[in-house]
Amino acid sequence: MMIVPWLKNLLAITAFFTSCEVHPNESKNERNMFCLECNDNPFCGSCIKSHHKDHRVIQVRRSSYTNVIKTIEIYKHLDILGIQTYVISNFTVVFINKRPYSQPTKKTIGIIGCNSDYLCKTCQRNLVGPYYFCSLACKFECIKKDGGFFLSAKETEEMERLLEESIKAPKQKAKKSREQNLKRKVDEAGINNEENEEDEENEQEERENMLPIQKPNSRRKGIPHRAPFF
Ligand SMILES: [Zn+2]
Ligand SMILES: [Zn+2]
Ligand SMILES: [Zn+2]
Repeated sequence: MMIVPWLKNLLAITAFFTSCEVHPNESKNERNMFCLECNDNPFCGSCIKSHHKDHRVIQVRRSSYTNVIKTIEIYKHLDILGIQTYVISNFTVVFINKRPYSQPTKKTIGIIGCNSDYLCKTCQRNLVGPYYFCSLACKFECIKKDGGFFLSAKETEEMERLLEESIKAPKQKAKKSREQNLKRKVDEAGINNEENEEDEENEQEERENMLPIQKPNSRRKGIPHRAPFF
């Protein structure tokens, strides 16, 4: 099995969103980038040009005080099959680390109920769909413990279908109004992500110009390739 040397480091980073010391005078200098080649501390957008020009860099975003990565950015580098994705604005994300337990709010109880039929295999948190893990961290823990994460061919097919949907679907839904998006987020994700939405969309645009990330071919069936998990 191929080793992804950067995953352990990514999961352990606590310095995301602190200010970049190299660029103290830039207006956007929060350290929200992580380089898969350098596998070192996080850095800001301005650092990419000087130090990580041809490297694979992923952007960490923050939603409801949780660090997340866009599904479309991470799935090419890591096998995220079986990990819950959440809809944020017009794209989906996966959680890096598990969230602390919190009391369900009135809003979420009303819509999705207190308990879900699906629980994270590692931390037993409720999931809002037929997934196996709440976060990258929980899948990693399971693989470390069991020596791998094994699914039947049928289960793999189902997870690939869900992953493919989560990469494509939000794009089509981008045309919907903000109000519909919000409702959908609560319905499907059971979480509130009302902060920084406009920002995220702008950042997304910037980001796509900045990084040579290959977009998946929408005409193609199935996932282009399976990235290793570790
Ligand atoms: Zn910097
Ligand atoms: Zn680098
Ligand atoms: Zn979990």
